[in-house]
Amino acid sequence: MTGLSTAARMQRLGTETAFEVLAHAEALARQGKDIINLGIGQPDFKTPQHIVEAAIRALREGHHGYTPAPGIPVLREAVSADLQTRHGVQVDPDRVVVVPGGKVTMNFAITMFGEPGVEILYPNPGFPIYESMINFSGATAVPYALLEEEGFAFDAPALLALVNDNTRLIILNSPANPTGGVVPKAVVEELVEGLLRFPNVAILSDEIYSCMLFDGQQHVSLLQYPELAERVIMLDGWSKTYAMTGWRLGYAVWPEALVEHATRLAVNCHSCVNASAQYAGLAALQGDQTAVVEMVQAFDARRSVVVEGLNAIDGVSCQMPGGAFYVFPNVTATGQTSKSLQERLLEKDGVATIAGTSFGAYGEGYLRISYASSLENIKTALQRIRASIDAL
Ligand code: PLP
Repeated sequence: MTGLSTAARMQRLGTETAFEVLAHAEALARQGKDIINLGIGQPDFKTPQHIVEAAIRALREGHHGYTPAPGIPVLREAVSADLQTRHGVQVDPDRVVVVPGGKVTMNFAITMFGEPGVEILYPNPGFPIYESMINFSGATAVPYALLEEEGFAFDAPALLALVNDNTRLIILNSPANPTGGVVPKAVVEELVEGLLRFPNVAILSDEIYSCMLFDGQQHVSLLQYPELAERVIMLDGWSKTYAMTGWRLGYAVWPEALVEHATRLAVNCHSCVNASAQYAGLAALQGDQTAVVEMVQAFDARRSVVVEGLNAIDGVSCQMPGGAFYVFPNVTATGQTSKSLQERLLEKDGVATIAGTSFGAYGEGYLRISYASSLENIKTALQRIRASIDAL
């Protein structure tokens, strides 16, 4: 114990259990236990070589100093061009703010809008940092449920019914972590139309998995609705699409009126993003996209194996997710809580998964399994999970 007293808000800060499970799994592996990690949410592929080379080249060419806080102009322009190609939208590069990872945009948006007396709506189950940061800001975190029977998409009228005069921000995420759910276009449009009744509510649309879609689906971006342009913050980045989680590189498109706030937060927080990482990001956007296509194809093949394998286990049922690289099987019929099953699978069977409750209360009865691992590992893990649940 020390006599130090930290700010009260530190008591309200949550965490992301995936990092704790990763540390635990690595500790068990160091003790010699054979661990298959299906807990972590990052591609198991390496960053494509031409991207790595671009970063090395940038360092060799002397890009060692600070850059403009919102990012180097060529990168902001390349992001704008990429959004035109992928989503068919015209975005002024001045609205693009490059940050060290997708999470930073989340932090900035919630910091910008959250304070006591304010309500912020967020998906549950959902990425745990949403709820954590809302609580930290002093705002009230209001969950909206993502239900299995709705393919883990939100129900637009139910979401809109939660909006009141205190609501300042709504957080959306599709394709979603932890469920792999994708919100159908018709549901997005129902929400967009409903939001016209609430002109003072901002939207943070987390589209970090926008390139990870299966079955020929087209991503629906909130940027495609000009009627919301003055209040949509669109979060995306390089981490998942280009297997660049460790580079710490992301961006957001901000409404014009918020760019200055976002830039000022950047100046107060990290000054600018690592210069060589920005040149790597530029090469990623402008270079050959084959590696991205191949990665998504590999995820697609694994998705079928993991869903089929889980559904073959008594007590487990698993929907086919439309995007990202997660499945969210229902394990209620095993009679175990999510947490106890997570612990059993890790400690007894050497398979790291994440309890659904790590993503909010509505995650009880589910596990998150990441299939960003080799097919061989996935098959072995499925055998172990099956044997473990059969033995209950
Ligand atoms: N948003 C979602 C939904 C995520 O799942 C993640 C990472 O897991 C992030 C944002 C954060 O991405 P980054 O690693 O670029 O900060």
